[in-house]
Amino acid sequence: MADESNPAVVVGLDVGGTKVLGVAIDPQKPETVVAEGRVATPDGGEGLADALLELAGSLGGAPRSIGVGVPGLVDRAGTLHMGPHLRHLHAVPLERVLAERSGLHAVVDNDANCHAIGEAAVGAARGATEALVVTLGTGIGAGIITRSRILHGAHGFAGEPGHMVVDPNGPPCPCGKRGCWERFASGTGLGRLARDAAAGGRLEAATRLAGDDPEAVRGEHVTEAARGGDAQSQAVLDAFAHWIALGLANLVNILDPEIIVIGGGLVEVSDLYLPQVRTRFADLVLGGEERPAVPIVAAGLGERAGAIGAALVAAVPR
Ligand SMILES: [Zn+2]
Repeated sequence: MADESNPAVVVGLDVGGTKVLGVAIDPQKPETVVAEGRVATPDGGEGLADALLELAGSLGGAPRSIGVGVPGLVDRAGTLHMGPHLRHLHAVPLERVLAERSGLHAVVDNDANCHAIGEAAVGAARGATEALVVTLGTGIGAGIITRSRILHGAHGFAGEPGHMVVDPNGPPCPCGKRGCWERFASGTGLGRLARDAAAGGRLEAATRLAGDDPEAVRGEHVTEAARGGDAQSQAVLDAFAHWIALGLANLVNILDPEIIVIGGGLVEVSDLYLPQVRTRFADLVLGGEERPAVPIVAAGLGERAGAIGAALVAAVPR
């Protein structure tokens, strides 16, 4: 637990679709987590500030600041404009509310930005001044590090490549558009690619794992069957890898990073698709044979990256 006599401790909270993960760290030694805890994310986000303050308080010690990473559009003042899992929250000045209620310095940023800050500080992008961190989970998040700082854009909304359109005639996205990258290259996208294959009779082993119901096939069934050597499941993962590589190539054509870090829940099975992503990326990026190779690597901090990054965001004056 946090040491009551250590005023250097800062708290970082990472708001996910189902849970909020909290850590307390000493920002001078961010690789060492002093305390850790979690609470359920309130349904739709109602009462989120209460849950965040309760979790921060449960981590012990007397933190000097609180950082929070939230999925959604967060402006430079820490106001959450909208979040995919937080339907009750629109234009909520979360940073101001947390600061007023806690009496502490508080900073709220986009969750993927916090992931990127964590990975750049003590994870797989350590030492890079130009890095792209992409989180593959239910959707896709991203944090763009340029000149060693997060690229926020004019309003704080930079780094949402999950909603760049890669197929104008593609499936509808909860954002209201069609064919967004995250419809293909996220966990949701993998599940959809799998169900399409299952409906066409091209995914027998994974369909058996789903109780012989093609409609019930999910990404986990595909990865489990591929792990067992099933070629049809590996073919679905190859298609998945193509979609990931396509989006990464588009991003690298714009940003030219030194390194790409892949995080989020799907990093746990990245050995099943990252080798193919690397091969396809080299074919898709502009001048793939002429430019320096861009390493595409798995995240180093696991599920704590966002919370550690949020704490680091709050450790420095805004
Ligand atoms: Zn979208």
